[in-house]
Amino acid sequence: GAMHHDDSRQNGVGCIAEGKEAAVVMVGAECAPYSKTGGLGDVMGALPKALAKRGHRVMVVTPRYADYKSARPTQVRGTYSIFGMNHEVHYYHELKDGVHVVFVDHPSYHNRGSDIYSGSRLDVAFRCALLSKCALEAPRCVPCGDSPFGTDNLTFVANDWHAALTPLYLEAHYRDRGEMACTRSVLVLHNIAYQGRGPMAELGYFGMPWHYSESFRLYDPVGGEHMNVMKAAIIHSHSIVAVSRGYAWECKTQEGGWGLHGVLQEQDSKLRGIVNGIDTSEWNPATDAFLTSGGYARYGPRSVLAGKAACKAALQGEMGLPAEAGTPMLGFVGRLDHQKGVDLIYENFEWLMGRGVQLVMLGSGNAELESALVDMERRRPRQCRAWVGFSVEMAHKITAAADVLLMPSRFEPCGLNQMYAMAYGTVPVAHRVGGLRDTITHYDSAADKGTGWLFDSADAGALRGAVDAALEVFCSRPEAFRRMQRRGMAQDLSWDRVAVEYEEVIVGGSGL
Ligand code: ADP
Repeated sequence: GAMHHDDSRQNGVGCIAEGKEAAVVMVGAECAPYSKTGGLGDVMGALPKALAKRGHRVMVVTPRYADYKSARPTQVRGTYSIFGMNHEVHYYHELKDGVHVVFVDHPSYHNRGSDIYSGSRLDVAFRCALLSKCALEAPRCVPCGDSPFGTDNLTFVANDWHAALTPLYLEAHYRDRGEMACTRSVLVLHNIAYQGRGPMAELGYFGMPWHYSESFRLYDPVGGEHMNVMKAAIIHSHSIVAVSRGYAWECKTQEGGWGLHGVLQEQDSKLRGIVNGIDTSEWNPATDAFLTSGGYARYGPRSVLAGKAACKAALQGEMGLPAEAGTPMLGFVGRLDHQKGVDLIYENFEWLMGRGVQLVMLGSGNAELESALVDMERRRPRQCRAWVGFSVEMAHKITAAADVLLMPSRFEPCGLNQMYAMAYGTVPVAHRVGGLRDTITHYDSAADKGTGWLFDSADAGALRGAVDAALEVFCSRPEAFRRMQRRGMAQDLSWDRVAVEYEEVIVGGSGL
């Protein structure tokens, strides 16, 4: 304990007042750089660091999917009854950037490759229940420095439905029995479309007392009457954070709540929106580890023109696209899912090619959308590269090289790629929803303001209109485009600022 506190004070950015340090346990199924399929992994990797920098004791609890070399086995093992059977786990630990990362080792997490959410519904539910149970035990049993965290001034932050049993077990298995009376829970909604639904009959597996059943029971037109882990977590957590203000609002609407809008309306007093930050140690064009060779170049606000020109030429070379400095390059990075609106790009493909742009896409996921990517590249190999796969390195290179990033997401809780893009002087074209609406200001040529182009409905025509507007400025008014890039780069998108808002929720938590 004490040593960690001293360390963080020395390099701490405005530590909070003496005596107010909280102990925080962040629980999530993925955590960058160890495991990541999307934005959840980025947040799990970055927010804990920012909280630790502010002087809090911070632990992350996440599965040990692979043999992470830097994480050491502890002496601690635990045996818990999950799904009616005893299971033994082994805790691994690593202190990284001031954060105690605790890995739960159990055979069910091993050898999953990149497919950490695969398996039958009950398999996934088992892994989620085990993670939550271990998260509740870790601060009491895993030594971090000289001693375990303990449960004083402790808050669990449960991320998405995979960790949503954490606030439920906290109530049912501890607080209802007089343990951890002062311990709080925060539920973070990164994507409320995933809820841990199943038949009511499966509730028995989770080991929740019978009188909690009604909290899990939901009726909606899509699922009929069913068991819903997210619903119960919304009811029983002490605070709820949605990953942007726009998303907090959308989750309470019929269109955006995926059946949970009613219960969120009832719990509105505990809900607030906090937009994600970006990890500037990873996503900064001036220090980016992937821009050091192969013709790529690092750059800052003043060298953005030359820096991006070098990156564009390098990517064109690497991708086998014609080396054309003046050709506008459009990029896309993301999961290939209906949510992300990739099909709208596909629908506009011939039109885009007719405008003479280069299009570079990176993504994996849905098989149909993967074939759409393959099809685009096959049709126009001199103008389009579509990389099917998951590559953090290519994500960085595309973000640096492209002039414009496309984000036609149908819904987007927060979205990180548009923030990475702006930090790299790449101008986003995005659907005006959720976090995209919160983080991008629409271009206003008269006032010379704005950081991107927003369009109002998720259809091909609206996307076309916004791309048209972007190309007009890029091609005909390069100085205005340059100012837009600089405005994007000048924003403080870091977690340091955002961590203060989380701190208010974690330290100030309500409902006790
Ligand atoms: P979501 O969480 O819905 O996937 P976000 O925009 O919040 O969307 O975060 C996506 C994160 O995942 C970003 O860091 C993005 O770069 C990364 N990502 C998504 N798809 C890929 C891919 N195919 N290769 C590399 N990184 C990817």
